[in-house]
Amino acid sequence: MSLFKLLRARSLVPHRQLGIVAKSKYDFDLIVLGGGSGGLACAKEAVDHGARVLCFDYVKPTPVGTKWGVGGTCVNVGCIPKKLMHQASLLGEAVHEAVAYGWNVNDQNIKPDWQKLVKSVQNHIKSVNWVTRVDLRDRKVEYVNSKGAFFDDHTIEFVPKCGKRYIVTSEYIVVAVGGRPRYPDIPGAKEFGITSDDIFSYDKEPGRTLVVGAGYVGLECACFLKGLGYDPTVMVRSIVLRGFDRQMSNLLAAMMLERDINFLHTCIPDSVERQTDGRLLVKYHNTTTQAESSDVFDTVLWAIGRKGLIEDLNLQAAGVKTQNDKIVVDASEATNVPNIFAVGDIIHGRPELTPVAILAGRLLARRLFAGSEERMDYSDVATTVFTPLEYACVGMSEEQAIETHGVDNIEVLHGYYKPTEFFIPQKSVRYCYLKAVAEINGDQKILGLHYMGPVAGEVIQGFAAALKSGLTLKTLRNTVGIHPTTAEEFTRLTITKRSGRDPTPASCCS
Ligand SMILES: Cc1cc2nc3c(=O)[nH]c(=O)nc-3n(C[C@H](O)[C@H](O)[C@H](O)COP(=O)(O)OP(=O)(O)OC[C@H]3O[C@@H](n4cnc5c(N)ncnc54)[C@H](O)[C@@H]3O)c2cc1C
Repeated sequence: MSLFKLLRARSLVPHRQLGIVAKSKYDFDLIVLGGGSGGLACAKEAVDHGARVLCFDYVKPTPVGTKWGVGGTCVNVGCIPKKLMHQASLLGEAVHEAVAYGWNVNDQNIKPDWQKLVKSVQNHIKSVNWVTRVDLRDRKVEYVNSKGAFFDDHTIEFVPKCGKRYIVTSEYIVVAVGGRPRYPDIPGAKEFGITSDDIFSYDKEPGRTLVVGAGYVGLECACFLKGLGYDPTVMVRSIVLRGFDRQMSNLLAAMMLERDINFLHTCIPDSVERQTDGRLLVKYHNTTTQAESSDVFDTVLWAIGRKGLIEDLNLQAAGVKTQNDKIVVDASEATNVPNIFAVGDIIHGRPELTPVAILAGRLLARRLFAGSEERMDYSDVATTVFTPLEYACVGMSEEQAIETHGVDNIEVLHGYYKPTEFFIPQKSVRYCYLKAVAEINGDQKILGLHYMGPVAGEVIQGFAAALKSGLTLKTLRNTVGIHPTTAEEFTRLTITKRSGRDPTPASCCS
């Protein structure tokens, strides 16, 4: 039966006719709520194993009206546009470096065209949305652009554009609805502030921008705005990059400061008002001194964290357990209701990253429909903060290693280094730094690797596979480097932190 006929048959108008719907046979083998990284991966893998799959995706517009197509956060308002803006900002630096390398770049005051950049980014996103829809159609994943909510543990209720209510049933249901940015509960927050959901399609130049929040999203936004020639200020409530290695986080903040990005430490906003000239007056106070201040910005960008989108799911109708705004799952992504699972950002206590959502979704589909028993391993997931000098890491922070193994049982090797390509344009090498956190005994199993410098994500990705395979310091030291790269610095770490020796290299080639 076509989906259209099926929906007519399952129409919930009037509601009380529900009793006549036979439940013995489900309409689908799998319904996925959420067409983002995790949901789409799960849906596509499931059809590959012969399942009949229906996927719902729906985007609630932001308070200023931004909305987008299928594909979820990563494609539309996350990793992809962020990386493109990061690249745009790095290219600004590269133009100036090019002059030092002999390129004749006549206009030294080159400025980006914000509207043109936004258009290019949005065009790319739209092409990805299109390819995603075609891919779903070709693979025969039924796709409905509607918000789905539980009617009971096997039934999803939804209201498509025509306004009629429908239900549809499934043996399994996977919740992959992700999250959205939080807004502070202060006057003017929603009326005048924007978030990462808006910035990548923002039709006017951001200008002087207050970025509230110093998690990775806030820092990345501040950095690409700076690189594009705007003037960001980061308001930090407590610490930068909570959850990351402290030394690396502080180095990253120092690197941003060196690039004239302002920080307002231990401050929180109290209100945002629009002035008669259209600019935004932000009143805030320092939580340490209680001193009240105010400043005027062109844009206020909230980056104070994200909340799971459980409120519209009517989870109580299915009896699914939640914690705060997340869904509680076990090691096989199963909720407390046997046929209901969850993957991606919506699950409690797991890394909120695209590749995590994708792999978890795929593995789940294989377990449900292909007899697999393989579970997602959430340990040692590598990640990168895309600031101008990127910071990437895998495994434990120094603090986690100390907490887990004890300070006397770990060794930290570290070093500053000088990327060869930084010399001619005389770029600052002050924050090019890396460290390996390892066990102190035996072959010295590596517990964590941390790298700040150019293309950190590319560097750490390979080391992440090595670390997952049980990499030791002994092996690392016996690995021949690729010269001249910055990744090779990991193979020549010799200075331990406990030695107190200066980790600064004397020459360009150590
Ligand atoms: C600015 C930013 C930058 C990021 N950068 C990176 C990065 O560099 N690398 C990285 O790995 N991760 C990054 N992330 C995180 C990454 O985007 C998420 O971890 C990932 O998208 C989570 O996938 P998901 O499938 O769980 O949810 P999502 O991708 O958010 O998809 C969920 C989808 O479900 C829809 N939905 C919600 N409720 C319903 C409903 N009731 N019915 C139907 N549909 C519904 C949502 O609108 C959305 O389309 C970034 C995030 C942000 C915000």
